[in-house]
Amino acid sequence: MAIYDSVIIGAGPAGMTAALYLLRSNKTVAIIEKNTFGGKIALAHNVENYPGKIKMSGIDFSDTLLEQITEAGCDFIYDEALSIKKEDGTFTVECTSESATGKTVILAVGTENRPLGVENEEKYIGKGISYCALCDGAFYKDKTVAVIGGGNTAVGDALMLSEIAKTVYLIHRRNEFRAEPKVVENVKAKENIKIVTPAKVTKLNGENVLESIEIDVEGKAETISTNGVFVAIGLVCSLSQFAESIDVDQGGYANSEENCLTKTEGLFVAGDCRKKAVRQLTTAVSDGTVAAIAAYEYLNR
Ligand code: NAP
Repeated sequence: MAIYDSVIIGAGPAGMTAALYLLRSNKTVAIIEKNTFGGKIALAHNVENYPGKIKMSGIDFSDTLLEQITEAGCDFIYDEALSIKKEDGTFTVECTSESATGKTVILAVGTENRPLGVENEEKYIGKGISYCALCDGAFYKDKTVAVIGGGNTAVGDALMLSEIAKTVYLIHRRNEFRAEPKVVENVKAKENIKIVTPAKVTKLNGENVLESIEIDVEGKAETISTNGVFVAIGLVCSLSQFAESIDVDQGGYANSEENCLTKTEGLFVAGDCRKKAVRQLTTAVSDGTVAAIAAYEYLNR
């Protein structure tokens, strides 16, 4: 079995950027991805804060990056990484049906959607509850939908859905939005977006599919009839399967030094799964660059 210079777990912006830098330094790379190439950014309708690009879709960005690393000679493993083991200076990454070995590993698995935490949420997944407006928005043409959250994802989702649905409720637990003010202004200018704050979803109703939600608006109960609820209340990180090789903080994010190094020599962490203050596309590609250069230096030592 080939021993790669680097095995990268996760093909989001951080993982693919790390691959690009290593491949361009003549290092061999295999990248493991269980889901979508591009990670969360592939689901972003519009990206308008990436330097040097006035506007692009997330899928254009991730497709271009994928093309770049494919042309540079990256190997791909479509599987879920389950564990990382280091023996005699070589790492083995066990996946569900195969394994990959490398002299270094870059962990860039990103994050997962935070669930709403309301009773019966699981029951309605695919029957009204969605965590991806880009994937499921088209099902709600001329209907009423609700988006929950106040960050860039929620606000961006509300804007995108306002082009499809008849009415979009944007429900957020505080009056202030965490999202970029410019995008919040765009939302406020849309006639078919109704902002409901400060409000919390307390109940989901419907026999087989979601029919309505109950919300608490400053202590007052209200019901909104809707077949679609898009949950966009942030992200959580789970790295417990790699706990032997890395330390994680209370939120489940990997502790690392400035150069993305973990407690295991030769194992680096990059992107949103790393403990850090700012999680943006720009900081993900920055981490990918830093981790790749650190891995390159480790390999050449
Ligand atoms: P986020 O920025 O963490 O925002 C999560 C939102 O959900 C917050 O408004 C938060 O409310 C709310 N929330 C959290 N837990 C909640 C709960 N249990 N119940 C109700 N509401 C809850 O998450 P995000 O919007 O998914 O964005 C994640 C990262 O990706 C951010 O750094 C964001 O800037 C970035 N992003 C960037 C772009 C872009 O650059 N184009 C697009 C999308 C996302 P509070 O505000 O009250 O805490």
